[in-house]
Amino acid sequence: EREAEVDMLADVAEAVAAAVVAAEPHLTDLDRKVGDGDLGTNLARGATAVLSRAALLRGRPTTERYLVGVSDILRREVGGTSGPLYSMFLLAMAERLRDRSEADAATWSAAFSAGVARIREVGGAAPGDSTMVDALQPAADALQAAPGTGLRAAVAAAHDGAESTAALRPSLGRSSYVGERAVGVPDPGAVAIALQLAEIARVVEA
Ligand code: ADP
Ligand code: MG
Ligand code: MG
Repeated sequence: EREAEVDMLADVAEAVAAAVVAAEPHLTDLDRKVGDGDLGTNLARGATAVLSRAALLRGRPTTERYLVGVSDILRREVGGTSGPLYSMFLLAMAERLRDRSEADAATWSAAFSAGVARIREVGGAAPGDSTMVDALQPAADALQAAPGTGLRAAVAAAHDGAESTAALRPSLGRSSYVGERAVGVPDPGAVAIALQLAEIARVVEA
């Protein structure tokens, strides 16, 4: 049962990695407008590393160990602000899953929320600061509200959250330096979260 779960998780992770590689030009373009233009490259480097180690990762005995494996890869390969935050998100998820009795939807929702909480704790961003938290927190809330059926709602919430950042003047991270120039452009990190969640839903619901 645990092995089937690792396989399912690997299917999702590999699809997300492929989607991130495909989105590199778009994310680079957005980060060029409001940041330093490296988000697409940073995330694609991590995604490529995950794909090149896909077989090795699939050999991990448990879901938790799989997540820690991906976390290690992202910490090493993804630079910038995103690398450490993505890495800690996955570690927090693994920690939360380690204590479970079963792998039901509610547990996965709780693990996702634990990951979001860790990012907020480490990065200090709250919703409204125009960061990836503007996509992550609404998605976590949607999942917690309806763990079994909330994935579609989480995708929509993340999308809306990412879009909402276009109206904001960023107050945290590199985008804050460009100030008014960022108004009208969505936060690239939030857009990246929304597209990854959409890919997760596509694979899970297939
Ligand atoms: P860098 O700015 O170091 O080049 P990246 O390009 O890897 O970082 O990532 C930029 C993204 O990181 C932003 O679009 C934003 O979503 C996210 N971000 C920046 N600062 C924070 C923070 N304090 N907490 C959470 N996310 C953040
Ligand atoms: Mg950047
Ligand atoms: Mg950078």
